[in-house]
Amino acid sequence: MPFNALVITKPESGYRCDLTELDEAQLPATGEVTVRVDYSTVNYKDGLAITGKSPVVRSFPMVPGIDFAGSVTQSDHPRWKAGDRVLLNGFGVGESHWGGLAQMARVKGDWLVALPDTLSERDAMAVGTAGYTAMLCVMALQRHWADAGVQPGSGEVLVTGAGGGVGGVAISLLAGLGHTVVASTGRPQEAQYLKSLGAASVIDRQELSAPGKPLQKERWIGVVDSVGSHTLANACASTRYGGAVAACGLAQGMDLPASVAPFILRGVTLHGIDSVMAPMARRVAAWDALAKTLNREQLASITKEIGLGDAIAAGGDILAGRVRGRLVVNVNR
Ligand code: NDP
Repeated sequence: MPFNALVITKPESGYRCDLTELDEAQLPATGEVTVRVDYSTVNYKDGLAITGKSPVVRSFPMVPGIDFAGSVTQSDHPRWKAGDRVLLNGFGVGESHWGGLAQMARVKGDWLVALPDTLSERDAMAVGTAGYTAMLCVMALQRHWADAGVQPGSGEVLVTGAGGGVGGVAISLLAGLGHTVVASTGRPQEAQYLKSLGAASVIDRQELSAPGKPLQKERWIGVVDSVGSHTLANACASTRYGGAVAACGLAQGMDLPASVAPFILRGVTLHGIDSVMAPMARRVAAWDALAKTLNREQLASITKEIGLGDAIAAGGDILAGRVRGRLVVNVNR
C-alpha cells in the first residue's frame, strides 16, 4: 500500500529532504511491528536531520522523525497486536532506522510504549521527545530533592532555553509541582507566554551565555538546561549548596567550559539526561507522569500543528530558534 513520507537522500548534488510516496513493502525488514502513524513532531534533532546541519542521519535513504504516535496494524511481537495505541521516542529511529515523519512505520516491538489511556495521539506528540525529555529532567531533580529533603517553593528553579520545546514543558511541569520557576530566554517578547506556563520571572539568556566566574552567587535549588556551553557552566556556578542541574541539550553548544568548583565546594550534582536509550521502565514512568500531571491547556498553548510537507521548512526554523514551544506534525494532513 502506498503512503507519504519525508525521505532524506544524499545524492552527489547534495543533501536533501523531500515529501515522497513510498510503498509499505519498502518499510525496514528489521522491525516486527507495523504502525499507522497519526502524529509525529519536529524536535531539534529532527531539524539537524532534515537540514543535514549535523550528521545525525547514519544511512540513506532515511525517513526522519525521532518520535511518533499511532496504532499497530500488524505485529509479530508478543507484546503488541493490531489496534494497540503506541508511541515511540528515540532508539535511533529517524537516525539509523526509518522514523515517524511518515504515514507508516515499521519498528522493533521492544522500542514501543503503550500510549497512556488518557493521552490522545496528538497530545502525546505535542509533548513529543522534547516534553518527555523535560519530564526525565524533572524526575531526576525530584529524586535529588527527595534525597536532600528539598521542598517545592524553598528556592528558585532555573529553566534555560525556555522558549523551546523542552523549556516550555519543563516550566509547566515544575510550576505545576509548586516550584518557583525562573525562565531564561533570548526572546523577551515571549515573557507573557512564559509566565502563562507558570514562570514566576523571566531573565535574559545573555545573563548566562557569556564566560563567567567558576563560583557565582548561589541562586538555584535546581536547573533544567537544554542549552549547554557557557549557559550550563554558569548555571552550575550559580546553583545553591547541594542543588542539582539536569543537563539534556546543546542549543548553545556541545562544549562545557566549566570548573569543578561547584561540584567539590558546593556539592552540586550534574545529572546527564538521555532520552534516546533510556530504560523502558523509566520511559513508562515518564509517560504515565506526563499523562497524569501535564496541564493540557498549557500544552495546547505551546503547540502548533503543521502538515507533513511543512516539516521540511520547520526543520530549519527550529535550528534558527524561530519555533516557540512545540510543533506537532499531522502526517495525514
Ligand atoms: P528548541 O529549538 O525547541 O529549543 C531550544 C531553545 O534553546 C531555543 O528555543 C532557544 O530558547 C534556546 N537557544 C537556541 N539557541 C541558543 C543559543 N545560541 N544560546 C542560548 N540559547 C539558545 O529545541 P528542543 O527544546 O526540542 O531541544 C533543546 C535541546 O535539547 C536541543 O539541543 C536538543 O538536541 C536537546 N534534546 C536532548 C534530548 C536528550 O535525550 N538529551 C532529547 C530532546 C532534546 P530561547 O529563544 O527561549 O532563548
